Amino acid sequence: MVAADGVLPLPWLDEPLARALQTQRGHAVLLQGPPGIGQFDLALCLAQAWLCEDAAGARRPCGRCASCRLVQARSHPDLLVLLPEALRQALGWEEEASDGAGEKSGKAKPSKEIKVDAVRAAVGFAQSTSARGRAKVIVVHPAERMNPISANTLLKTLEEPPGLARFVLSSGAPEALLPTIRSRCQALALSLPPADQAEAWLAGQGVARPEVLLRACGGQPLEALEWSRQGVDAAAWTKLPAQVARGDGSALAAWPLPRLLDALQKLCHDAASVAAGAAPRYYAPRDLPTGASLERLTAWYRDLHRLAGAAEHPWNAGLALDALVQQGRAALAA
Ligand SMILES: [Zn+2]
Repeated sequence: MVAADGVLPLPWLDEPLARALQTQRGHAVLLQGPPGIGQFDLALCLAQAWLCEDAAGARRPCGRCASCRLVQARSHPDLLVLLPEALRQALGWEEEASDGAGEKSGKAKPSKEIKVDAVRAAVGFAQSTSARGRAKVIVVHPAERMNPISANTLLKTLEEPPGLARFVLSSGAPEALLPTIRSRCQALALSLPPADQAEAWLAGQGVARPEVLLRACGGQPLEALEWSRQGVDAAAWTKLPAQVARGDGSALAAWPLPRLLDALQKLCHDAASVAAGAAPRYYAPRDLPTGASLERLTAWYRDLHRLAGAAEHPWNAGLALDALVQQGRAALAA
């Protein structure tokens, strides 16, 4: 959300926010584009602009009016944010006081889905009277985490929204949404920020050699920052191809399995690109082993893709790591 000094949380959101405020005349917006670029931040900025009580709100939220301050304090009575419980906890948002989702932090693992009880509460919220009289805004992020029952529950309200209700849905995987949900929203396409802007921002966050991690994350700056905060630095990324080619997985032992699979898929993708005479995408050309056979790399890619589908299963991480690295060594051998 926009701070009191009027600064956007991420500089590259300036353009899409202005575009959204100029072009979005409907009651429901679907922000769609790659993850890791700040879709949720943009959704909140848009909600804040719709609720802003200063004339400036037509162009961007002022950041100073009473309404903007309530959004900043996460306590605006006309703003409801629907997140999967696991993400709500990770982002430090308070539990919805009135959602009755029955997921009070207890033994149950926080859900990664947006559950139907929370959507029902949001529908009730949309139908209630606006406390400050401007709008009732519901943010749904990531929208593809609504299961089919949740999505169908939202559908009717999206179709015939009550009075002042407006919706911002955001999704990194819009193809996973029900077509009926998509068709009721006006889409706003987002793209990766320019690399120089993203690198400057990452450098400002204390990330060393930001171009390496930005490239490793396919141009998604928020993901690059997350990796950096979790201890993955440019040196580790640069050395990874040679380590895997030698069959040495020791430096990767602390990596969670999904990230390890992601890194190996990117390595395999780039090695195959080089073998086919194309430019690599995630690693610098000089860091990649050369001379591997395209056929073996293709077979490895299929294996990795299949494993990635099951990456959240509680495997024996030690065994999986060793097997994966040996597989990589064989596939990368000249
Ligand atoms: Zn304002």
